[in-house]
Amino acid sequence: MKARNFRYVRPASLQQAYRILEEGGGDAVPLAGGQSLLAGLNMRLSAPKLLVDIGELRELGGQSHAGGVVRLGALTRHRELLESELTRTRLPLLARAAEHIGHAAIRNRGTLGGSLAYADPAAELPACCVALGATLVLGSNAGERRVRAEDFFKGLFETDLKPGELILAVEFPERAAEETIGFGELARRHGDFALVGLAAVATLVRDRIERARLVYFGCVERAALARAVSAAVAGSSLPLTDQAALAAAIRTDLSPNDTPGLRADTKLHLATVLTRRVVNAFAARAAA
Ligand SMILES: Cc1cc2nc3c(=O)[nH]c(=O)nc-3n(C[C@H](O)[C@H](O)[C@H](O)COP(=O)(O)OP(=O)(O)OC[C@H]3O[C@@H](n4cnc5c(N)ncnc54)[C@H](O)[C@@H]3O)c2cc1C
Repeated sequence: MKARNFRYVRPASLQQAYRILEEGGGDAVPLAGGQSLLAGLNMRLSAPKLLVDIGELRELGGQSHAGGVVRLGALTRHRELLESELTRTRLPLLARAAEHIGHAAIRNRGTLGGSLAYADPAAELPACCVALGATLVLGSNAGERRVRAEDFFKGLFETDLKPGELILAVEFPERAAEETIGFGELARRHGDFALVGLAAVATLVRDRIERARLVYFGCVERAALARAVSAAVAGSSLPLTDQAALAAAIRTDLSPNDTPGLRADTKLHLATVLTRRVVNAFAARAAA
């Protein structure tokens, strides 16, 4: 299939982009890497009249590290998450997650801001941003505001973005020395969207987990902190021994639906296996 007709404009500045988006109302949408939007247009899942290409806006690019905050511009490509020295050393969770996003061609074009705005519940980066306690910087003609990633994802493909608003950047608090990260996903083939995935951050004292933030993807409606599981693993020594408590916590946080080829019970089982795997690997990662 092919997309319906649309107009295309490439604003020269952020202010111009704001103005065009505001004037366009619901008919105008931002275009970043195009890896989700253009596929949706070609499948006629949406038919905006005007694409506003923000892909060259200098104001949405760049990466910095200052005052205990790592800031990544919304146009940071998935490939940069994998390759940049800053993300590999300061945000290794994003670098690990990016390895699993689609294929090289998608990682070359797809952007951090696009992934967060699209809010696919099977996507890796929204879950990582929630686990890392990130803050999104949003902008429009009305000015800038900051929203915690935890509050940004409202539902299935639904976010806190208001019409005409753009994600400008994402800010991550600097990782404490005793913090470690965990990541895993189960997909039918490498590069496919995850059936069940988990992004995690934990504070360890020797082999004991003091605090943890676990966020699932692929088997949820939106990226949200898995409160029961995070609380269940906090205070545990590794390796985890109380499998029943873990499985019960997972059932509290997750209520997946049956989908073609995968029953909800199977997803819960996979989530339990994956959680054990990711959490038990904390100790080795912390030692490394
Ligand atoms: C074959 C294939 C496999 C894929 N596999 C995966 C995968 O395994 N995991 C995964 O996470 N993703 C996957 N993706 C999606 C990919 O990561 C996309 O790059 C990402 O979801 C969207 O980023 P984008 O820059 O391409 O955004 P676009 O497609 O340009 O835009 C997506 C949406 O976000 C809006 N938008 C974009 N940028 C902004 C902004 N700065 N502010 C406000 N709104 C904005 C657009 O208006 C649009 O609604 C896959 C895509 C394809 C085609």
